[in-house]
Amino acid sequence: MQVVEDFLSAKEEQEIIAAIQAAERNTSGEIRVHIEAKAVKDHYKRAVKIFSHLKMHKTKARNGMLLYISVLDKKFVIYGDKGINEVVEDDFWEATKNSIQTHFQKGAFKAGITTGIEVAGKALKRYFPYQKEDVDELSNEISKG
Ligand code: CA
Ligand code: CA
Repeated sequence: MQVVEDFLSAKEEQEIIAAIQAAERNTSGEIRVHIEAKAVKDHYKRAVKIFSHLKMHKTKARNGMLLYISVLDKKFVIYGDKGINEVVEDDFWEATKNSIQTHFQKGAFKAGITTGIEVAGKALKRYFPYQKEDVDELSNEISKG
């Protein structure tokens, strides 16, 4: 969809993929970004659906994290798998959310996404440090709906 294509330039998309790769060099957690024009329903429910659609619950440690962005609604959701929720504190994603929100409010979408990925990667590292035999279980490409 055009609105999704216009949201980020090709160069910005590459920077986001690089940010995911960098974050995943610190943690076994798997980070994905999904961008779409507009959600049909509740954003949280939509994020859960996308998470499942992308088979993000298939990681061994159940430590996938989805950053879902609805461009026209100006909304985002961070959804982490149950392996994460079982071990972290309730406000675990707070710093990640805040850094994304701060950038988004200024219209700095690429910076919001890359910073959010960086903060999320550092947070995940505490509970799911990178292992030498780490497998890249989920694609680092941006998913578009
Ligand atoms: Ca991995
Ligand atoms: Ca990955």
